[in-house]
Amino acid sequence: MSFIPHGKHLIAGVWQAGETSFASEPAQGPGHRFSVGTPALVGAACAAAEEAFWSYGQTERAARAEFLDAIADEIEARAEAITDIGCQETGLPEARLNGERARTSGQLRLFAAHLLKGDYLDRRHDAALPDRMPAPRPDLRMMQRPIGPVAVFGASNFPLAFSTAGGDTAAALAAGCPVVVKGHSAHPGTGEIVAEAVLAAIARTGMPQGVFSLIQGGARDVGQALVQHPLIRAVGFTGSLAGGRALFDLCAQREEPIPFFGELGSVNPMFLLPQAVAARGPDIGTGWAASLAMGAGQFCTNPGIAVVEAGPAGDAFVAAAAEALSGEAAQCMLTVGIAQAYKSGKARFEQRQTVKPVLVTDSEGRHARPNLYETDATTFLQDHTLREEVFGPLGLVVRVSGPDEMEHLARGFSGQLTCTIHMDSGDTALARHLMPILERKAGRVLVNGFPTGVEVCDAMVHGGPYPASTNFGATSVGTLSIRRFLRPVCYQNMPDALLPDDLAG
Ligand code: NAP
Repeated sequence: MSFIPHGKHLIAGVWQAGETSFASEPAQGPGHRFSVGTPALVGAACAAAEEAFWSYGQTERAARAEFLDAIADEIEARAEAITDIGCQETGLPEARLNGERARTSGQLRLFAAHLLKGDYLDRRHDAALPDRMPAPRPDLRMMQRPIGPVAVFGASNFPLAFSTAGGDTAAALAAGCPVVVKGHSAHPGTGEIVAEAVLAAIARTGMPQGVFSLIQGGARDVGQALVQHPLIRAVGFTGSLAGGRALFDLCAQREEPIPFFGELGSVNPMFLLPQAVAARGPDIGTGWAASLAMGAGQFCTNPGIAVVEAGPAGDAFVAAAAEALSGEAAQCMLTVGIAQAYKSGKARFEQRQTVKPVLVTDSEGRHARPNLYETDATTFLQDHTLREEVFGPLGLVVRVSGPDEMEHLARGFSGQLTCTIHMDSGDTALARHLMPILERKAGRVLVNGFPTGVEVCDAMVHGGPYPASTNFGATSVGTLSIRRFLRPVCYQNMPDALLPDDLAG
């Protein structure tokens, strides 16, 4: 079933056309015209979100759970059309879109179940001690409350799971916060059909219409106006370091600064310990290649750097990775801009004499093939640009002289979403040395695996110190991500009649 987008914004239940439009640039199929967003539309959506918050923020948990389940149902009811337009716009294969849709409806349902459990409220009660000396203690109760309207920026690399009704939106709506989405111009039609699903769920469950708006992009002033709007209380963002930092700075410069939950960039280093490399270096190399090339490397958890000792065992790891990567076909990238950025990132490596090409491929147009390079620890430590994320299937092997240099290198990394150790039992002592370092660097530390594929669950942390994220205390995946859109309120000597229902009694 084909979906033909009408190209309008959804502002509090009403589809609105703008005065100007932009053309989508799908990887395949026909382009369509979409209205360009404006600061005036941002103002209208934020005002409606604030109005909706007075009732939505007070809804019972069960009602919000029903709403989230209804969004999931409505997305699934449009499954075929979503996959169709999603594949056209992004160039991602059908199986990926189907999987991502299941993840998107799955995380909405996960939040619905999480709401019903109520643990996230973190309710605390210190009962009054009227006879305490020298001073009595009042009755104190605490609970997490929603913060108000939240801005969400759709991500180019997850047109469903991190976009219109993706993880940020699900977490904010679950918390009780209305959402204003700034759609990504790489997949505006996918955004529109998902917004249609949210609107249908609003109608089914009787939620206030201002609880959700989608403003299509097409102009930079939309995102800027959104993060600066005085009614917005927090921002969820996944994208580039440059774009995220610019928006983060705008949030900090506001008269009333707000938190900007940005997930920006990570090279996800892997540390290969000697016993593991000696025992199964080629297998690790083949596994790395598969993780690196998956989805044309367009994952924030793409493991771009492998640190391994110099010597024949390490050589066998590199040879196996190169062999597996050389067999990978060219894959379509998400946008022309991302394909160009991949080529410039690759050029950065080629310009350096101290970086050795292991596998160099040509990329044509919007397609990319894997590239692999190798360097030594001294070069890597001196040249900071080698630690910057190249979005795409590009790997860098850093050869170290031994455990001390590996540890030294680990200390030099900036914040990461993930760090990985490949080890056998004989590597345990070295791994124990690395752990305190890696724990300080990353939101998630893995052993004998690859970081692509982020489980959506209670224990997941998808975040980390800057620049992996702009708030190291938060995660953008999993149920803990709801905490970004809540704040603790303490109620002192409050009669039951005034307490929120969840605290009374
Ligand atoms: P992006 O350029 O950061 O854009 C993300 C969103 O932010 C878009 O809606 C964009 O609006 C908006 N934006 C960016 N800079 C802005 C500014 N200065 N003022 C106002 N709005 C701004 O990311 P992208 O388009 O998704 O991909 C570009 C690059 O980001 C990739 O090549 C890759 O390096 C990186 N990336 C990283 C991750 C990750 O997970 N770490 C994920 C995706 C992309 P417009 O559409 O209007 O520009």
